[in-house]
Amino acid sequence: MTGRWAWIEVDPAAIRHNVEWFRRHVAPAAVMAVVKADGYGHGAEVAARAAVAAGASALGVATLAEGIALRRAGLDVPILVLSEQPHGELDRLVAHRLMPTVYRPETVAVLAESARRARSDVAVHVKVDTGMQRVGADPDQALAILADLRATAGVRPAGLFTHFACADEPDRPANAAQHECFERLLASVDDELRSGLTVHAANSAAALTRPTAHYDMVRLGVAMYGISPGAGVDAHTAALRPALAVRARVGFVKDVAAGSSVSYGHRHTFAGTRRVATLPLGYADGVRRQWSGGDVLIGGRRHPIVGVITMDQLMVDLGEPGEADDVGVGTLVTLLGADGDDEITAAEWAERVGTIGYEIVTGLNARLDRRLR
Ligand SMILES: *Cc1c(COP(=O)(O)O)cnc(C)c1O
Repeated sequence: MTGRWAWIEVDPAAIRHNVEWFRRHVAPAAVMAVVKADGYGHGAEVAARAAVAAGASALGVATLAEGIALRRAGLDVPILVLSEQPHGELDRLVAHRLMPTVYRPETVAVLAESARRARSDVAVHVKVDTGMQRVGADPDQALAILADLRATAGVRPAGLFTHFACADEPDRPANAAQHECFERLLASVDDELRSGLTVHAANSAAALTRPTAHYDMVRLGVAMYGISPGAGVDAHTAALRPALAVRARVGFVKDVAAGSSVSYGHRHTFAGTRRVATLPLGYADGVRRQWSGGDVLIGGRRHPIVGVITMDQLMVDLGEPGEADDVGVGTLVTLLGADGDDEITAAEWAERVGTIGYEIVTGLNARLDRRLR
């Protein structure tokens, strides 16, 4: 914490609210809170603690380092590493009691060796690719891996999962096709094996829109932070609360003459005399350069960003001198989040920038302070 006049504000109560809402929505299925990428920019430890307090029964991470950091922070719930890690890292994975995902048959024996060395019993989730074509075993291969896990000392099959490619567009036929493929696989798992497995398929979008894909657990990512997975499921996200705001304080104010231009490249020229506020954050903090022209909120009112966003600073048009006399050095500005009756959402940034809300929040840089609300 540096006292810098630009920071991320995180509201753990909003995360708790969202997770509690999902627990009711998906019950009796359980909730895994996905806290990869530093909790989608919110802070992995803060997000994980809030989610667990709200009843999440497991955590999901993308990398070994993310899982180890959560264990070191004292989080004791099951932590699933969502994809395979290099074989040379599996000793560490086992030593920190993280749950591995497996989809390559040859990984079973390597894991069993790690388990033997650590004298532990490793619960494994098998990932099957039902159409995303990213990572995962083919369905037949997944069955073979499950059987191998059952027959090998030191490891045991504890989960079976897949991942939807188009869940944020619920009407796409690909969703039903993937779902049916997964159902066919499940039908060929014997009862004894099935009873020991946590079966899961749904990400946020499928948790919102596809109740028959909830199975034993949903993997809740972006929606747990109060961000919609995409416009196609916006109708289902009204109960969710955004948990993150980006705020700054005005660092400098000046009046500029008609005809003068602002920022690199002089891309914006003022038609009349204007008052301009400079904010001490920029694209190196994750305020994407393409967001130039977007709005900020000051005292609940919108003001446009003028000229291009620079690495460490950006400029805002306050209006004619005299119009915003209450704004000066130190005035609070909201770049993302609510202020008064208005709100700038990750989706609004994403639309102008040409991306998705996920990339906006995960792109916020560690250079910004993170403060809890
Ligand atoms: C990131 C991820 C999730 C969470 O997805 P959201 O769309 O953010 O809910 C779930 N499962 C896997 C395998 C993931 O990689």
